[in-house]
Amino acid sequence: MHLILLGPPGSGKGTQGAQLAEHYGATHISSGELLRQHLADRTPLGTRVEDYVRAGQLVPDEIVLALLQEPIERAAAAGGYVLDGFPRTLRQAELCFAEASAKGIAADAVVFYAVPDDVVRRRLSGRAALGRADDAEEAVIERRLRLFHDETETLLDYYRRRGVLVTVPADRPPDEVFEATIKALDGR
Ligand code: AMP
Repeated sequence: MHLILLGPPGSGKGTQGAQLAEHYGATHISSGELLRQHLADRTPLGTRVEDYVRAGQLVPDEIVLALLQEPIERAAAAGGYVLDGFPRTLRQAELCFAEASAKGIAADAVVFYAVPDDVVRRRLSGRAALGRADDAEEAVIERRLRLFHDETETLLDYYRRRGVLVTVPADRPPDEVFEATIKALDGR
């Protein structure tokens, strides 16, 4: 299974990604987790991306693409991938599709987790209490939400046109979202 998960911050992509990967025998790859690991390890890449991540801004496409290329190829060779947080812009999607389809590992399906903005705000301010620094400030939450609407929503049209988009309402308990995802994917 080659899967891409889309959705606003706080829509449950991380939770679903881990479960879906296990279900399909694939590898869960979270761009945000990989970036945060570089920050924690204080790698040169971590230093380059620190300001973007802390401010809730998008890391430049080239950095993200370079970071993810190897993990994606490794996962595809080992049973599949579930991508969470990438692609995030139309340009990332186009570049990724060109690379992946040349290698025969383009996404089979793209799941969009739909959650209303007010639910996102509530979930993110709750998550800030658990230590995600980039979720802490209201201004950062608003910026991440705006970025999602400005950049990531255009991806929905892109994938819809390709005929691979599946929309799952995600304003409900995680196990219900998981069941609905499996049903939608297996019913394709
Ligand atoms: P996430 O955990 O997916 O919410 O990502 C946390 C932060 O990492 C984002 O706010 C961005 O700063 C950065 N990031 C993650 N994925 C991407 C991506 N595909 N493109 C650009 N920046 C990203």
